[in-house]
Amino acid sequence: MGIWLEGKTLAKEIKEKVKKEVSYCLKKKNQKPGLVGILVGKNKASQVYLRIKERSCFEMGIHSEILNLPADINPSALKSKIETLNQREDIDGILVQLPLPSSLDPYEIINSILPEKDVDGFHPYNLGNLLMNQIGLKPCTPLGIIELLKNREISIEGKRVVIIGRSLIVGKPLAAMMTNENGTVTICHSRTKNLSQVAAEADILVAAMGRGAFVTPEFIKEGATVVDVGMNYLTDREKMESLFGKDEKREKDINEKGYTLIGDVHPLVIEKAEYLTPVPRGVGPLTVALLMRNTLDAFKRRKNLQ
Ligand code: NAP
Repeated sequence: MGIWLEGKTLAKEIKEKVKKEVSYCLKKKNQKPGLVGILVGKNKASQVYLRIKERSCFEMGIHSEILNLPADINPSALKSKIETLNQREDIDGILVQLPLPSSLDPYEIINSILPEKDVDGFHPYNLGNLLMNQIGLKPCTPLGIIELLKNREISIEGKRVVIIGRSLIVGKPLAAMMTNENGTVTICHSRTKNLSQVAAEADILVAAMGRGAFVTPEFIKEGATVVDVGMNYLTDREKMESLFGKDEKREKDINEKGYTLIGDVHPLVIEKAEYLTPVPRGVGPLTVALLMRNTLDAFKRRKNLQ
């Protein structure tokens, strides 16, 4: 039976440090970081994520704004809003909540954010720096995974790392980070052949695919570290019971919210893995904590406070 690798405690520690530094800057320099989240359209999940980020900013003492824009905004109008934020002295971080409506090209839109304010780390300049193993703003979810492994002294060097998922948000930047940490990395996706066999070679397996409970024990090498990035909304009570048995918390979730949050990894994997991150309370809280730290870093760099 493996150990649950929760991210909550580390996320709290990171946030406490950010909060202290923000309060120090406010006292000594009378300045504080500012973050703007841009929401285009009315995607429910995106609204929830932005509210969580806003609440976190509030706890940290970071100034925060949410810009709600209509789904049919044209690219030049959106880019002109971003340009205004690029020019604002009091704003250090700009994030465009993804996914964008299909009429907008995320590459074009993210490219219009000033790299020094791109606290999500998705701008080509920042991704280039990541590939070149240089200092810069890095995507928060993969960064959280690296921080969690380091914090628990799970070494990456020389390890066989398999990542399922090649998105720009998780899989690809994580592959670069794991390579920079001297892991031997394989990245898998929907066209990968013999996926479970490839996964079962991993010392560290990361599932970032968005397929509830897809990764079953046959994907796992005995004693592997398994990181579950997936966030899937399960509404089917019977399916929930077949996965988790009698689980009061999840039953309450379904009764009250209509869903329970599950990962990409099947709960039985804990019996084979050495470590497994839970969903919720695993990688998720670290993503928000690192967004706060990226915003503070962007602020310090812009104001020469290092
Ligand atoms: P995404 O953009 O949809 O990418 C999913 C990736 O998984 C793609 O590369 C896809 O392959 C691959 N994939 C899908 N089904 C597959 C299958 N059956 N076999 C092999 N590969 C498969 O998703 P994302 O944005 O990376 O997010 C992935 C999951 O992580 C989602 O559940 C999301 O909610 C969650 N997430 C969590 C956090 C957090 O803070 N905890 C942050 C970000 C995302 P192709 O490229 O071939 O299509």
